[in-house]
Amino acid sequence: MKKFLIGLAALVIIGAILFFGFVATYFDKSMNTVSYSTIEENSRYDSLSFIADLHCDMLLWNRNFFGLHKYGHVDLPRMQKAGMALQVFTIVSKVPKGINIEQNDDKTDQITLLSFGQLRPPKTWFSLKARALQQCAQLHDFATRSNGDFRVITNRRELERYVLDKKNNKQLTAGMLGLEGAHCLEADVNNLQAFYDAGVRYIGITHFFDNEWGGSAHGMKKGGLTKDGISLTRKMEELGIIIDLAHASVETIDDVLRVTSRPVIVSHTGVKGECDNQRNLSDKHLQEIGKRNGLVGIGLWETAVCGTDADATARSIRYVADKIGVDKVCLGSDFDGAIRTHFDVAGLPTMVTALQKQGFSFQEIDKIMGGNIRDFMLQNLPVE
Ligand SMILES: [Zn+2]
Repeated sequence: MKKFLIGLAALVIIGAILFFGFVATYFDKSMNTVSYSTIEENSRYDSLSFIADLHCDMLLWNRNFFGLHKYGHVDLPRMQKAGMALQVFTIVSKVPKGINIEQNDDKTDQITLLSFGQLRPPKTWFSLKARALQQCAQLHDFATRSNGDFRVITNRRELERYVLDKKNNKQLTAGMLGLEGAHCLEADVNNLQAFYDAGVRYIGITHFFDNEWGGSAHGMKKGGLTKDGISLTRKMEELGIIIDLAHASVETIDDVLRVTSRPVIVSHTGVKGECDNQRNLSDKHLQEIGKRNGLVGIGLWETAVCGTDADATARSIRYVADKIGVDKVCLGSDFDGAIRTHFDVAGLPTMVTALQKQGFSFQEIDKIMGGNIRDFMLQNLPVE
């Protein structure tokens, strides 16, 4: 009888693993899709000096980084094919059921089941902090296993060295870490150090729901920074962690701009002037972010740019460039963010063609496609 029960338990566990493993991959395949079926070439693409993108949620999917996939948006072979110099990998740690851009509470979470289904370590099933730190560790693990093809950048010295090395080695590519929502600090500002030590260099205060630090653009109340949120932004400044205002409520953006003085980023967004909705930046915020030499990453998906092609993204980029200058705009794709992007990372040459149609010079396109991210990070990452 005992043997039978052990055998039955083993069968149930194996069945659950197979089932959830299948479901986790199914979600990855069905949620991270593309609009373009063919990739366009662009004769100037290979001449770009530094191709970079400010936002990608690939770590959420537990996808084999080293394999070439026919689904999803980013893996190492596709980054190399695209000549990608720097991709910021962002950590998603809690997503309520039925998320929408209008209003969400924080009572449910879909990532618990996903973490279980992906067979991540049990501590990641229930602790947001453990979950987020495990995703950070994964990126470092990719670097260790890449035979030198992939690096994680955490400071200016590393980036300076990398820029030189990348010129002589086309296969070389790199990542940086960011957090999508500070709820994974589990309400303790002292946890910031653990994420700094894990290599996190930018943090979005909120994601889809209001949290203990501030209001989300998609939260129930959409308030500003809390008292703890003000302490958090100060501590981030001290450590040299950049503030990301993507997904922040109007009040939170106002508060951050009032209590901090350093340049901020909006890692993946659109602009109300081209695409008016809850998640996109107003002209007023755009101007203020521009004044303090911030950086605005324009998305490659429909809700950000009100269109499903590279031309829509290029129109929003043109809008930002005209308002605050071509030095302050870049790509913030939201690759693998459970969305349909125009194309995957290998499709980026299409973006160059769309920017040419907007009348940008090659020099300007070089900045937009990554030069601005390189220069911003060279100025704003911790020195070493
Ligand atoms: Zn996002």
